[in-house]
Amino acid sequence: MQIITTINEMKALSDSFRKKNERIAFVPTMGNLHPGHIQLVERAETLAPKTIVSIFVNPLQFGANEDFDAYPRTLEHDRYLLELANVDALFTPARNEIYPDKNSNKEVIEFPGLSDILCGASRPGHFSGVAVVVKHLFETVQPDIAIFGEKDYQQVLVIKKLVAEYDLPVEIITIPTQRESDGLAMSSRNGYLSEQERQVAPLLYKTLCQARDQLRAKAVHFSEIEQQANEVLTKAGFKPDYFSIRHSGDLSEPAEDEKQLVILVAAYLGKTRLIDNILI
Ligand code: AMP
Repeated sequence: MQIITTINEMKALSDSFRKKNERIAFVPTMGNLHPGHIQLVERAETLAPKTIVSIFVNPLQFGANEDFDAYPRTLEHDRYLLELANVDALFTPARNEIYPDKNSNKEVIEFPGLSDILCGASRPGHFSGVAVVVKHLFETVQPDIAIFGEKDYQQVLVIKKLVAEYDLPVEIITIPTQRESDGLAMSSRNGYLSEQERQVAPLLYKTLCQARDQLRAKAVHFSEIEQQANEVLTKAGFKPDYFSIRHSGDLSEPAEDEKQLVILVAAYLGKTRLIDNILI
């Protein structure tokens, strides 16, 4: 596996693949890799002869009081996992490669009505930060395909919008959320949970499943399902940020007879903000 740290080297390698007509599948990450990330990599490998993974903890997508400094950085172990997974190249740029001067991290890419609702409302600027870095990474890595996890459902829609609005020549593929055996969605942030919080955390997915079942039974209004779920989570010690039934295509508020639905949740457990969702 080639380890690449500069934009020039990364572009040169991608150019060399492209010259040989070798398609590139790309998996952007922030590292601290878990089996969910490896699933993305394995999917990438089925889609193109060359697979490139990036690890970059992107300061632009963290708010001032968020966990940028504390975010787990485990590069040695990540490298080992990616070698095992037969990745062709790992791109780990330093911060000043992506944001070389003061102005370069002032770029803003917002999609009103999408990037400013749900997680975007609680974390202003988060999805702009994601869109800016993904655009930079796409321009550098020049992938044909990029693979993202449905765990970050709103992020996927933001990236699809980014690709459409800027006419980026990248196909976006998604994979379902990978879970622990008790249902908890795998996440780099699960490591923040205390032992006791870890025991409680699977309730998030359980509550989503219960809400899905209520939706399917069609016996209860959306707002009641949301309210009940919030109560269940609060009782168990979560501080829910939102529990929301939305249109799965654009996250707009759905009519009660809408069929294309997704239920999304974000909730704090202690200091850890967990997110999850379930497609109906
Ligand atoms: P992150 O390193 O958390 O920014 O995530 C990098 C990519 O991995 C994103 O596309 C995430 O949606 C995806 N991802 C993270 N956790 C999971 C999971 N449990 N299942 C599937 N994909 C995931």
